[in-house]
Amino acid sequence: MTATPERAHAPVDLGALRHNVRVLANTAGRARLMAVVKAGGYGHGAVPAARAAVEAGASWLGVHTAGEAEELRAGGVDAPVLVLGPVTGGEWARAAGAGAEVVVWSQDGLAAAVAAGVPGLHIKIDTGMGRLGIHPSGAPALADAAVAAGAPVTGVMTHFATADETEGPNAGFMREQLTRFRSTARQVRERFPGALVHAANSAATLREPDARLDMVRCGIAVYGCSPFGDAAAAHDLRAVMSVVSTIASVKVVHSRDSVGYGRTWRAARGTRIGLVPVGYADGYARALGNRAHVLVAGRRVPVVGTISMDQLTVDLGPESTETVGEPVVLLGADGDERVTAEELAGLRGTIGYEVVCGIGARIPRVPVG
Ligand SMILES: *Cc1c(COP(=O)(O)O)cnc(C)c1O
Repeated sequence: MTATPERAHAPVDLGALRHNVRVLANTAGRARLMAVVKAGGYGHGAVPAARAAVEAGASWLGVHTAGEAEELRAGGVDAPVLVLGPVTGGEWARAAGAGAEVVVWSQDGLAAAVAAGVPGLHIKIDTGMGRLGIHPSGAPALADAAVAAGAPVTGVMTHFATADETEGPNAGFMREQLTRFRSTARQVRERFPGALVHAANSAATLREPDARLDMVRCGIAVYGCSPFGDAAAAHDLRAVMSVVSTIASVKVVHSRDSVGYGRTWRAARGTRIGLVPVGYADGYARALGNRAHVLVAGRRVPVVGTISMDQLTVDLGPESTETVGEPVVLLGADGDERVTAEELAGLRGTIGYEVVCGIGARIPRVPVG
């Protein structure tokens, strides 16, 4: 690890991202690959992530809002874009202005999309997610209305609720959803023969060949995290984001001294405490206090005490020699050691998605590779 002049920064390994996209495109086979770059490319930076994904074989990009579609266009990205989230008010015109396609599941949405002149509509079927989408029984009537309105229906889609659950009571539910979807999609396709049929997120893409259909929509796997929470390497995926800071101060403490808010940690022996100027405001969750490890000079070092808003403390050990300016890896690899998003997620009771999306705006993303 070379020293960094920044308080903290997040290298974004675009070479790893391109590798992941190639793996997913291969897995998808004949199906097209949509790289989902919503939420600022899952925290990695939407425009660099989108560009790299398109270079490596993604033919579509998915975002959540019309504003995110505009951001891609402003960044010079001209690949087809689908706004996956609900569109309201002036966003219909903004999506149309960005040349982005939208998702509709109601007569109102259909009318608004047609009035705004969006270039393509994807009809969304709720096959069991219980979120956005029309019930399968309503899909033929909505498709008929689309025909009557002259709407450019270019897709029919659904979303799985349990694609990441390979065991337990929900393991079979993805198949149930897929069965419902296929028969409904057929009815829509009778009216719009060119419509792309798509359902699979990262987990379904990796796990279920039958779910790949005409297109897969991959987010988390593009960024090198496993949707199943297991080792990304098991799926030939490479982590894209790291978070690197430095030791800003070193303090010698004595046995029984406490460190940080609430005195949640006390030294069992004299030791050297390193202060790292990153805290929960940067997305390093408070729940990681006294639990997580960081990497210093290629070794795992425990985070001790409560995580503050802007700072955290690590026990460098009594024999340590590191001083101010030493790099600290909060997420990513150093030598043979690695802290993964999946590891931090497990420690704080969440999923890798929340870890990478949650890295704060105060930490600059630095594209590399
Ligand atoms: C976010 C999203 C995806 C991508 O999901 P991953 O699990 O990150 O692959 C796919 N489809 C829709 C509708 C989404 O909102």
